[in-house]
Amino acid sequence: MIRITHHRAKCIGCNYCVEVAPFRWVMDESDGKSSLTDAKSKKNIFIAVVSDDEYNHNKEAAEICPVNIIKVEKI
Ligand code: SF4
Repeated sequence: MIRITHHRAKCIGCNYCVEVAPFRWVMDESDGKSSLTDAKSKKNIFIAVVSDDEYNHNKEAAEICPVNIIKVEKI
């Protein structure tokens, strides 16, 4: 399994994560930030635990995010 963490408050809405991993990220038109699908929130941090086969796409999202607010870890 992998754990994806999103510090959503700092999102600038560039849409890159949605482009590289559209099955896991969506843009929220109401506030112009991306949302991590099926995540649970802890304060303003969103966390999703998903299967290993999503690792590469979400790692790419983490690397491409210009404000470095996505973390992906194998657990
Ligand atoms: S790549 Fe980063 S800044 Fe851009 S929409 Fe995704 S989380 Fe937000």
